[in-house]
Amino acid sequence: MTSLVELDAATKRYAGGVTAIADANLRVERGELVGIVGPSGSGKSTLLNLIGTLDAPTSGTVRIDGYEIGTLSDREVSALRSQRIGFVFQQFYLTAGVIAIDNVADGLLYAGVPRTERLRRAAAALEQVGLGHRLDHRPHQLSGGERQRVAIARAVIGRPPLLLADEPTGNLDSVAGAGVLELLRTLHRAGTTVLIITHDRDIAAQLPRQVQIHDGRILAASAAGTEQRVGGDHHGY
Ligand code: ADP
Repeated sequence: MTSLVELDAATKRYAGGVTAIADANLRVERGELVGIVGPSGSGKSTLLNLIGTLDAPTSGTVRIDGYEIGTLSDREVSALRSQRIGFVFQQFYLTAGVIAIDNVADGLLYAGVPRTERLRRAAAALEQVGLGHRLDHRPHQLSGGERQRVAIARAVIGRPPLLLADEPTGNLDSVAGAGVLELLRTLHRAGTTVLIITHDRDIAAQLPRQVQIHDGRILAASAAGTEQRVGGDHHGY
């Protein structure tokens, strides 16, 4: 079986000449919980955009669930993304003024699910993240941690095999952040492959595998008990 995420010599150069990701080789297997860790400006968001199929590499390949993204049409990439990848961001990105259950149900808007079923599943997803008592609350009536839980419920309502979380605790105090991390672990235990992007080494240290990135290069990927070089030369920075 192919890996869920496979990058081979993936490189992303932005107009203006910045090479944000250089020659990245990475495998993420189904069922893993992985931290992608590096300082600000190291290329983490660019890597997330490549893995999340939001951007295409300048050279090299990105495969998700066996599909090489560069060979698909825009429509096929959108379909693959909506069926297989959930996103969680530092800023939550909930729709202001819209109650939690509707924000979560929106995660199924493009899945062809009828509205009553969307609402039923949204209520179940909010229950799952511990917010069964907050279905009718609008984002401004929720704490930061609760907002992130709503965003996570929205990300997983379509049951994507892959969840990408970009600095998911970045806007939260330590107690709320710990709760969100625990929720991500719970989703991982339930079978979702989870990638957490963070600049916070303490958070990364709690995860079973860390992929370190610096100056656009993947340095080392530690997998439970093993240490392997991924991406070749790491002396070039
Ligand atoms: P991180 O998420 O680790 O902070 P980024 O992936 O955002 O890092 O950025 C990596 C590098 O690419 C930085 O030097 C940044 O300035 C540059 N960069 C990011 N986005 C763009 C863009 N759209 N155009 C040009 N350069 C960019």
